[in-house]
Amino acid sequence: MKLTFLGATGTVTGSKYLLESSGKRIMIDCGLFQGKKELRLRNWAELPVDPALIDAILLTHAHLDHCGYIPRLIKNGFKGPIYCSAATADLCGIILPDSGHIQEEDAAQANKHEWSKHKPALPLYTEQEAREALKQLMPIKFGKAYGIGDLSFTLSRAGHILGAAFIRIEDGDGTSILFSGDLGRPRDPVMKPPAQAQKADYIVVESTYGDRLHNTEDPSEDLERIITKTAARGGTLIIPAFAVGRAQAILYYLHLLRQEERIPDAIPIYLDSPMAIDATELLHRHMSDHRLPKDLCRAVCSVAEYTRTVEESKRLDDNHNNMPRIIISASGMATGGRVLHHLKHYIGDARNTILLAGFQAEGTRGDRLARGEKEIKIHGYMCPVKAQIVRMDSLSAHADYSEILDWLGHFRAPPRKVFVVHGEPDSAISLCGKIEDKLGWNATVPTYLQQEEL
Ligand SMILES: [Zn+2]
Repeated sequence: MKLTFLGATGTVTGSKYLLESSGKRIMIDCGLFQGKKELRLRNWAELPVDPALIDAILLTHAHLDHCGYIPRLIKNGFKGPIYCSAATADLCGIILPDSGHIQEEDAAQANKHEWSKHKPALPLYTEQEAREALKQLMPIKFGKAYGIGDLSFTLSRAGHILGAAFIRIEDGDGTSILFSGDLGRPRDPVMKPPAQAQKADYIVVESTYGDRLHNTEDPSEDLERIITKTAARGGTLIIPAFAVGRAQAILYYLHLLRQEERIPDAIPIYLDSPMAIDATELLHRHMSDHRLPKDLCRAVCSVAEYTRTVEESKRLDDNHNNMPRIIISASGMATGGRVLHHLKHYIGDARNTILLAGFQAEGTRGDRLARGEKEIKIHGYMCPVKAQIVRMDSLSAHADYSEILDWLGHFRAPPRKVFVVHGEPDSAISLCGKIEDKLGWNATVPTYLQQEEL
């Protein structure tokens, strides 16, 4: 087998790997580059392989940095099936059209304000093209082996978000490689723990939190403290959240806090993201993919008031009587979406709190806020940051380095090599060192477009 790293090297975005074996070419994940401009430009660069010659895509999960390039690959000639779990297929149905819509809006804005040197600026793909792309999705079962040529592959549950999988692929000679995708946490309130893999000759492992440990404190205590303090000031709590994954975990904790009367019932909670609302409703459809029993699932999903329309969303910023409220809205790194309107409205008032609940990729607005920048640009305006900025990694959907090492530690035999990907450079290098020191395995941090014979 030959493996080429087409993304997620030195960055958490753009996950994309090409595996070639006996005349077959498969792509594992097909993610969008996000964040810094030099990364985003890669979404426009030609791939080193003609998309028409790729036989299939295997998808670990439905986050944009793993699936968001699919419509573009299809636009460039890819015609094959896209294998993924049933929940991943459902989530792609929400996430990809939304991504196409955002691409179109961004291009329209760029044309209106003449931001782009390209005339006219074009979307990477349109909402309609994203909808067309969904037809190539091929839902498959967890734990069952499927074949492409002499390759066989199996999905196993990775926790993380609904439908997330790690994928083990074996060639005709019995050589195997395992792609971790994004690994969830052993004790997440909503998601099941990652399944345990036992054997692979090669492992491609994520390192989002490769240099960090999550706070072990109960997230509900942090959340309770933040909400109580903000409400006492008469302030509003804004939570930029990944529509799929973190939004649901936050709803779970808010339900818990209300039920245990640890926060006043009177504080209204809004989930202001049509995509997050749809994703939350998918919990009911995929009961075996998460931990919540039916009644609890219903209770968690109904803790917030859902605002679907733009008018409803705008009304949330119309807070004349200064009543405390909680607004959960996407995007999670404040790179776009409705949360920007709320930030613009609430960030200049010291009574309010902005809670950053997920990973903030370098260069994103969320990252700038986390670093304590005093001014932030939103929709072309510089907004002074007066609100409290709080970071809470304990709500993360990613395993930290000790949880990743634990998961790796359960393999029955050392692999020949581990490739550490999907991390900012410091995280990837740090995890690589720990794998060598603690497990005594051969590990490396691959670079963009690097090729390996397996
Ligand atoms: Zn993910």
